[in-house]
Amino acid sequence: MADAPAIDVDALAGAVRSGDRRALARAITLVESTREDHRAQAAELVEALLPFTGGAVRAGISGAPGAGKSTFIEALGVHVGDAGHRVAVLAVDPSSTRTGGSILGDKTRMEMLSRRPDAFIRPSPTGGTLGGVARRTREAMLLCEAAGFDVVFVETVGVGQSEVAVAAMVDIFVLLLAPGAGDELQGVKRGIVELADLVVVNKADGDFEAAARHTAADYANALHLMRAQGGWTPRVLLASALTGLGVDGVWDAIEEHQQLVLASGERDRRRAGQARDWMWSEVTETLLERLRRDRGVAALIAPLERDVEAGKISPAAAAQRLLSTLAEG
Ligand code: GDP
Repeated sequence: MADAPAIDVDALAGAVRSGDRRALARAITLVESTREDHRAQAAELVEALLPFTGGAVRAGISGAPGAGKSTFIEALGVHVGDAGHRVAVLAVDPSSTRTGGSILGDKTRMEMLSRRPDAFIRPSPTGGTLGGVARRTREAMLLCEAAGFDVVFVETVGVGQSEVAVAAMVDIFVLLLAPGAGDELQGVKRGIVELADLVVVNKADGDFEAAARHTAADYANALHLMRAQGGWTPRVLLASALTGLGVDGVWDAIEEHQQLVLASGERDRRRAGQARDWMWSEVTETLLERLRRDRGVAALIAPLERDVEAGKISPAAAAQRLLSTLAEG
């Protein structure tokens, strides 16, 4: 985007609102940009579109690599599209932060869904901290809503912190599992199971079917011990992205959850809390960005790290030095 001409934010906002997918893609590129002038324009764009956001069912879908997320989200997306909805799929992929290349984005994924005019698929933003990636995905979600998408799936890999970030931006969190393997084998941490409003055991077909039933029963037992939240009791469903079995049931459950939390006021309370937390993570991320960019701070980092390692200065005192350098600069 470095050589892109100046952006007409009003025109872009109008084009996004008209549901133009290319405009939406451009708008998301703008919010993903880390350039200072782009950040200002992105903030202006999101602000202008804010009154037109909030209209989507926001669902997070997580699962270990190989659980079938891609295949399942495509099947679910097609089902939901056939039911008359407009579906957007976004991703939060922490590996894209570490390597600069995105696992979720590199594959040719969801080809069938991506060909549909009523669907929009966007890979994870790359680079920066997980917090930065999550922040840009949240903004992308708002832009999708302003563009008239009424279902947003946010996909993430079920291996760590990214689930917490995704759960903090959605109304319902779905954990997708493959049959057979236990939590540990699938790299799914117990805390992630606790985030789940819905556990879907995928691949309930052919040779996997019996194992899928077994896994579903195990998780049903585990979830049984967890407290129901906002009137919703987490549940376990069987599905096959390959045969389509149970895909409609997963969507029915998501809709049922949405109706329940809407009627109880829980959804609005949750979104309000998320917005407040979001403000504070904006503050944290922006401060961290400034800290990383500050020349005075940069010059101090290596010597201070050495002194901290050698025990010549306490970590707290070193942190104070960095922060006061930033404040002065
Ligand atoms: P992801 O890494 O979680 O996105 O998983 P993918 O969607 O790429 O799927 C991983 C593998 O599992 C692929 O070979 C899929 O064809 C296969 N797969 C996905 N869903 C199903 C299913 O419902 N049944 C069976 N038998 N295989 C599936």
